[in-house]
Amino acid sequence: MHNQWCLLVVVFGLLGFHEPLLGRKKNKRVDPPITSEQLPVQQECIVDFPECDQIKEKAYHIRVLLSEQLLDVDKASWCWEFKSSTGFFLADSVTGSKRMKSAQMKLRISAKEGFFYINDKKVQQKEFLLKAQDGHISFQDRAYGGSFFLTINDKRNRCYLINMVDLEEYVCSVLKSEGWPGWPLEMNKVLAITSRTYALAMMQGARDNKRIYDLKSTNAHQTYHGAHAQQILKKAVDATKGLFVGYQGNPIIAMFDICCGGVVPAHIEGFDFGRAPYLARDYACTYCKDCSSYHWSFSLGKSDLIAHLQKDYPQLTTLREFKITKKDKAGLVCEARAKGVRTTLALTGRKLYSLFKEIKSYCFGVQKKGNAIIFSGRGFGHHIGLCQWGARAMVRDGWDYRNILAYYYPGTKLMKLG
Ligand SMILES: [Zn+2]
Repeated sequence: MHNQWCLLVVVFGLLGFHEPLLGRKKNKRVDPPITSEQLPVQQECIVDFPECDQIKEKAYHIRVLLSEQLLDVDKASWCWEFKSSTGFFLADSVTGSKRMKSAQMKLRISAKEGFFYINDKKVQQKEFLLKAQDGHISFQDRAYGGSFFLTINDKRNRCYLINMVDLEEYVCSVLKSEGWPGWPLEMNKVLAITSRTYALAMMQGARDNKRIYDLKSTNAHQTYHGAHAQQILKKAVDATKGLFVGYQGNPIIAMFDICCGGVVPAHIEGFDFGRAPYLARDYACTYCKDCSSYHWSFSLGKSDLIAHLQKDYPQLTTLREFKITKKDKAGLVCEARAKGVRTTLALTGRKLYSLFKEIKSYCFGVQKKGNAIIFSGRGFGHHIGLCQWGARAMVRDGWDYRNILAYYYPGTKLMKLG
C-alpha cells in the first residue's frame, strides 16, 4: 500500500517535479461535479504494442526483478531457494530449449567468482532460464507463475534473478498487494487497468534504456509477491484483459494517490505537465469528501516541533515564529519559515512532508494556538492522477471503469493490446 509513494517519487523524478507548494483559499468557488453523462465514453482501440520481450518467450511477458546480489569472492553469503514438487529444468535463455533436468525438489542457487552454483555444483552458463517440470515453482516460499531468468553481469559484479511472467498474471498479483481488501469488482477493474498501464509504460522505458528487467518487485515500482487465489481480483483482470490507458498511442504514466483532497492538479506548480498533459486535470474531484483523509489535522507542541526540525537542522535551537510563506494556486505549500533567534530556515512543503509522518499531503496550513502549532490539510498523497477513494465513491454512485478513467486522465483513450 505504500507503493503510491515510491511510485510518485519515481514519476516526479521522471517528470521533473520540483518542490511544489500550495495554499487554501477561503470561500473558494466550488464547481459542480462532472457526472458520467457529461463525459465522452472512452472508446477502445486495438493496438499492437511492440514486442518487449528480449528473451524469446511469448509477447506480453513482463520481467520483474526479484533479487539482485553482489557476486561474492569465495563463499556466497546468500542463496536463492526454489521448490517444485516435480523437479526442475534449465533452459537456454535465448532459444528456450531444455538444457538440463533435475529431479530434485529443492534448489539452492548462489553465485561466486563469476559463476552460479546450484546445490553447490558449478554451472557453466552465465545465464539461463529455470522452470519447474509442472510449471509450479516457488521462490523463497512464495508461488510464482512463469519462469525465472538468472544472469551474471561480470562488469557490474552482480547477478540478477528475474521472474518472466505473463502480464495478466502479474497485474492480478499486484492488485492484491496494492489494492484495498473488500473493494468491489468495478473498482478492481479500475486498479487493474492503472496497474497494467504502469507496467506497460515501464516496459517501454526498459526497452528504451536497454534494462534487463522491466520493474522491481518492491514498492519502488509496484509491490509484487507472486501468485494468489483471490477470485474477485482474477475476475477484474480477466474482464479488462489487455486494456490500458493510452495517450497518443502510448501507455500513460498512470499516477494515482489515496485521496486527492479536492486539489486541482492543473494548478500545481513545478510539475512538467507538458510531458503528461493527461495529468493536468483542471476540475476538482469532489468524490473523495467522505474519505477520512480528505481533512486531516494534528498539533505539535513548540518543543516537539523544534526537536523534529533539529534532526535535520541542528542549528535551530529556539523557535520564535513558524509560518507558511508561499503556496501555489492549487494550495500546495511552496515555502514555510522557521525563525529562531540566530537562524531562519526556509523549508519546502515536501521537506516538511518528509519530516513529519502526520503530514499526509502537500496541501496544508499551520496555525498557532497557545504553545502549540496546528497543522491542518487535505488529501493523502500527491494530488495527481487517479484518486483512489474518489474512484471508490464513483463506483458506489454507479460510474463504470471507463468513465472513471476518463474523468481522472482527461484526453486519454482506453486501448487494448493486440
Ligand atoms: Zn479525490
